[in-house]
Parts: sequence; C-alpha cells; structure tokens
Amino acid sequence: TPVVEARGLSRTYRRGRLRVPAVSDVDLTVAAGTVVGVEGPSGSGKSTLLRLLMRLEAPDSGELLLDGHASRRTAPGWAMPVFQDARASLDARWPVWRTVAEPLLRTDRAARRAAALDWLSRVGLGHVDPDARPRELSGGQCQRVAVARALIARPRVVFADEPTASLDATTAAGITRLLRAAADEHGTALVVVSHDADRLAVLADRIVRMDAGRLTA
Ligand code: ADP
Ligand code: ADP
Repeated sequence: TPVVEARGLSRTYRRGRLRVPAVSDVDLTVAAGTVVGVEGPSGSGKSTLLRLLMRLEAPDSGELLLDGHASRRTAPGWAMPVFQDARASLDARWPVWRTVAEPLLRTDRAARRAAALDWLSRVGLGHVDPDARPRELSGGQCQRVAVARALIARPRVVFADEPTASLDATTAAGITRLLRAAADEHGTALVVVSHDADRLAVLADRIVRMDAGRLTA
C-alpha cells in the first residue's frame, strides 16, 4: 500500500467573480522510502498541492488515501510538515529544543531534551542555545529547527516546502543528506517542493513538475 495516493485532486480558489484552478486533476502515488520532488514555476500550485496532501485543505474533488485510508485522521506524528515560512510555523513562545522534541510523545523530559539536542546538532545548530526562542534565530536556522522537528520521531511521511531555500550550499547539502537518510534508513516517504533542480536531482527518486495546476511527469 502506498503511503500517499492522490487521485484526481483538484482545488479552485475564488478571486472576485473568477475561479482560479490552483490544482487540477492531480494523480500522485508515493511509496514508503521514496522521495518525490515537485518542481515548477511560482504560482503553478506546488504549495496548494502540499496543503491538500497534508489535509490542511480539502479538495473540491478527487480522493486522497493515506496508508490506504480515506479517513481524515492520522495518528499524531504520522505526517510532519516543513513549511516555507519556517519561523511562522514554530511556536514563538517555546524554546527551540521543546519544539524539536514535541513529536516525541510519551518520553520523559530528560530523554526528550537529549534527543532534541542531538537533532539540533545534526542539522548544524549544535552551537545555538537550545533555550532560544524562534525570534532569536535567523530564517535559515528556523528552517533547520523545523527539519529536526520533522525527522526526530521517524514519521511515516514528510511534506517539505522549500526546505533548503534559505540555506547556504554546505548547510543545504547536509539537510538534503538527512532527508535522504530518513527515506533510506527508516522508510519515511517524502514529498519535497523545491526550485533548486540540482539539489532535487540529488535527493529525489522521482521528480514531477507542476505547470498551471497540472502535474506532468
Ligand atoms: P506555488 O506554490 O507553485 O507558487 P501556489 O500553490 O502557492 O503555487 O498557488 C497556485 C495558484 O493558486 C496561484 O494562482 C495562487 O495565486 C493561487 N492561490 C494559492 N493560495 C490561494 C489562496 N489561499 N487564495 C486564493 N488563491 C490562492
Ligand atoms: P543562516 O546561515 O542560518 O541562514 P544567517 O546567515 O541568516 O543564518 O544569520 C547568521 C547569524 O545572524 C545567526 O547566527 C543568527 O543568530 C543571526 N541572525 C540572523 N537573523 C536574525 C534575527 N532576525 N534576529 C536575531 N539574530 C539573527
């Protein structure tokens, strides 16, 4: 059973009296341990597609099966997001270690903090104060916090929107390796939206292209 199976997903937005199709009739299947890269020009529907796959938005039509089930609810931590605006996606009140550790349910505090520090160091933030709040970090650092949080509890699937966009080349390569390792070592399925064709070619098993809301191979 694929982790993600979308059939004929469509989503239209209203703009005044116009109806703008953002995603049109998209079929997509993502197996465990597979990284699917999504590329395409700005405004082609990539972020909307990710929101549909994450069930943050309902499609107007089409069907979405997660682990073969059409039901709306998945277990906590089953799917993890990395949003394009990482800082806004982190809890501003929480120290970053707590945000990273949050998906580790039913683990005692000392173990969660130790695991969070380990993941902060894996994403290259070993020098950052784990008690810092997101506003004290750069955008790129917030993005790395979001990646650590997404991977710490070995989710079944990760949906990542431009996870390396605001990182320097060396840091981006490190994050790419961590995403790839999640697929190879834990069987995590990943859907990664990126403008960076070179990086996507290294990371992805398969690359699909969005064009005016439609998916082309
Ligand atoms: P991409 O991620 O490829 O840049 P988006 O999915 O953000 O593309 O946008 C696809 C289309 O849908 C664009 O025309 C965009 O203006 C429109 N759109 C996206 N989100 C909304 C929204 N919440 N309300 C209205 N229109 C939207
Ligand atoms: P990154 O390589 O993670 O993208 P930057 O080069 O953007 O980081 O930032 C370098 C340093 O500047 C970081 O150590 C960060 O702490 C600091 N910094 C950047 N933006 C901010 C900000 N808005 N508030 C506080 N510190 C910041």
